[in-house]
Amino acid sequence: MADWAASDPQDSLRGRLVFIAGRPRTLQSPHGVASHSCFGTRSMMGSDMHPRYRGPVMDAHCHYDATTAGRVEEILDLAGLEGAVHLWDVEWPPPGFEAEGKAWAEALPRLHRCHVPDLSRLGEQGSEAALDRELRAAAAAGAVGVKLWKNLGLWLDDAAGERVSVDDPRLDAIWEAAADTGLPIAIHVGDAPAFFAPLDQRNPRLEELRAHPEWWYGSEEFPSLRQIHEEFEAVVASHPNTMFVGLHFGCFMRWADVDRMLGSYPNYHVDTATTIADMGADDAWETVRAVILGHPDRVIFGTDLIRTKPFDLPSADGGWAVGDDSARESPARWDLAEFFSRHWRFFETSETGLQHPLPIQGPWTVTGLDLPDEVLRGLYWDNAHRVFKLPRTAGLEVRS
Ligand SMILES: [Zn+2]
Repeated sequence: MADWAASDPQDSLRGRLVFIAGRPRTLQSPHGVASHSCFGTRSMMGSDMHPRYRGPVMDAHCHYDATTAGRVEEILDLAGLEGAVHLWDVEWPPPGFEAEGKAWAEALPRLHRCHVPDLSRLGEQGSEAALDRELRAAAAAGAVGVKLWKNLGLWLDDAAGERVSVDDPRLDAIWEAAADTGLPIAIHVGDAPAFFAPLDQRNPRLEELRAHPEWWYGSEEFPSLRQIHEEFEAVVASHPNTMFVGLHFGCFMRWADVDRMLGSYPNYHVDTATTIADMGADDAWETVRAVILGHPDRVIFGTDLIRTKPFDLPSADGGWAVGDDSARESPARWDLAEFFSRHWRFFETSETGLQHPLPIQGPWTVTGLDLPDEVLRGLYWDNAHRVFKLPRTAGLEVRS
């Protein structure tokens, strides 16, 4: 497992400087004062990390909360990101979109927030009307998307104690209000196939599951991954006017199914969050590269970076951490340059033997996809802007 704290003294130093600085409004880079108004002068440090790409980058999958919202700008600068889409603060039931609004104001205008429907009351009287009303209110208040999580389909029950399937008709209130308001649905259902597979030596993520036994869904109390995927596809197929982003490269479907869904449903997209270890594996990278090149306008860059009070991803050891205040004193916690640089090398080079961004997922190395420049531009920037309808930043127009 990689030692993140020791990855690059220069980067650790940057992390420490950011941490000690507390809450600076901007990060002073070696190349000049950070500013979000122009990519050309902002975050030279970040763009220097790219092997080839020289355009702007949006991370369309990250998680902050009210306790870390004030640090968003310094993290974006450290990573060389123009902006980010914040999906959810990892609290369940979710706080309303407008709760803690003052904390989020510090992260504007570079952070774009999503609405998380509160499914914890599904089946109670008026719950569907509330889902509709709350989504529309969030859209009016500036939400750029709607986030749904894997509890839907795995362990979420309705008021009567029955499992809520991903294609439960009571959720039509969400899909329809999203279509009306133009908000895309960013959805993670199911999980990695290894999390449903027997816990034996053939399980490629056995070590990770030993460390996190709560992530294993292979027992009879859960539906199969195949059933969850079938329910999910039924929703995408039956709501052609609703935009969907299947997080984690299509909710961990097989590559052939990701390709088939992208080819079948113009309203379907996928993101790249937490899946590089699988995408770049020896038996996968050529197939994955072909899927992306076949659908260059449908794949969206996202990392699943989590900086919230209870959780960090990546943490100092490259995996997850359940944070406490003492862990927060570690400079490695803020050492994100290596995490992002591993993403850039994977997408932009053809190198073999690359370390993937989340060592906890397994010890193997990955092969870079060496995507063409115009595909990188779509992946890193244009596709997220189009799907999430993000406001244009001066000088960074989206291609039509
Ligand atoms: Zn996530």
